[in-house]
Amino acid sequence: MINLYELDLDALGKLLAEWGEPRFRAKQIWSWLYEHRVSAVSQMKNLPRTLIERLESETQLGTLQVAAEEVSADGTVKRLYRLRDGQLIEAVLMIYDDDRRTACISTQAGCAMGCVFCATGQMGFARHLTATEIFEQALLFARDLEGQGERLSNVVFMGMGEPFHNYEAALVAVRRLMDDLGIGARHITVSTVGLVPQILRFADEGLQVKLAISLHAATDEERDVLLPVNKRWPLEKLMEACHTYIEKTGRRISFEWTAIQGENDTLEQAQALGKLLKGMLCHVNIIPLNPTGGFELGPSATERIDRFAAALAGYGVTATVRVRRGIDINAGCGQLKSAVIRSRDIPGGA
Ligand code: SAH
Ligand code: SF4
Repeated sequence: MINLYELDLDALGKLLAEWGEPRFRAKQIWSWLYEHRVSAVSQMKNLPRTLIERLESETQLGTLQVAAEEVSADGTVKRLYRLRDGQLIEAVLMIYDDDRRTACISTQAGCAMGCVFCATGQMGFARHLTATEIFEQALLFARDLEGQGERLSNVVFMGMGEPFHNYEAALVAVRRLMDDLGIGARHITVSTVGLVPQILRFADEGLQVKLAISLHAATDEERDVLLPVNKRWPLEKLMEACHTYIEKTGRRISFEWTAIQGENDTLEQAQALGKLLKGMLCHVNIIPLNPTGGFELGPSATERIDRFAAALAGYGVTATVRVRRGIDINAGCGQLKSAVIRSRDIPGGA
């Protein structure tokens, strides 16, 4: 079967030429796929019956199979997808009170970075996703929203996996979100644990896409404990790359800070962070730790987070506490594995 979502307009044109179809059919089909975002070939109304039949028998709209779906009390939708080879990945759609509809998508099955508080890190690395597998996660949400008269507005690369460990595919997916789904670059965020060469490469892409860096600790001693990758790219190198990125792009960086009670929410860490980021074009997002099975510590209490943020403010560094979403269905940051495990009970699950 040919996956229509894998073809660019040229490749689609070639396929149709081989089938003896006129040139304009490719544009028509393209428009059904990405402007109307149909979920079945039968909905492509201006195509001849014979072409519809051939498309139905020889092509498919995507390869991701929904293995499970859960909807949280706050409207967050979490989907478990089964890939062609049986690997399971998750994607989350967050619905906000304004018009924002944000898809959180995965770039790998598992993750090789091993951050100790992250459910995906705890499961280890299975494989990279292809660019189409990454793009399709957002497309499927966009398709469903279209059916409800709504638009997917934002995409964050904050699901399972490290986007910069799968750099090429992630970047192709970013460009397709912009070109094919019409999502503005400023509405796309790529989050990385801090792979220095890729941060530098990203700075040269000429994209207006937002960059988030998962910092979580402001001293090597503390960061080594939480993020094994810090041994490879310690803070000094990481911050050097961040400064280069800001100089080259003129863009602000978001630093992610998962607040762990008694671990990285101390005044010492706040002060170290304040010194590290003072004067930098950046913002800190504080995310209270979401529970995962393989990590015993808990989220920081509100007073501790407030004290932390106040200390940062003393250095002129702005911070916001991110609203936790989808916690009741384990769709919060770093919680994506538990559902993957449960999915083993789903008939046909891997
Ligand atoms: N691999 C990339 C993107 C995916 S993780 C990265 O690490 O940046 C998205 C964010 O969720 C990261 O900032 C990550 O550190 C954070 N996160 C991971 N586990 C978490 C947990 N248990 N609670 C809260 N945030 C977590
Ligand atoms: Fe991988 Fe990001 Fe989880 Fe770290 S936090 S293990 S980089 S997905």
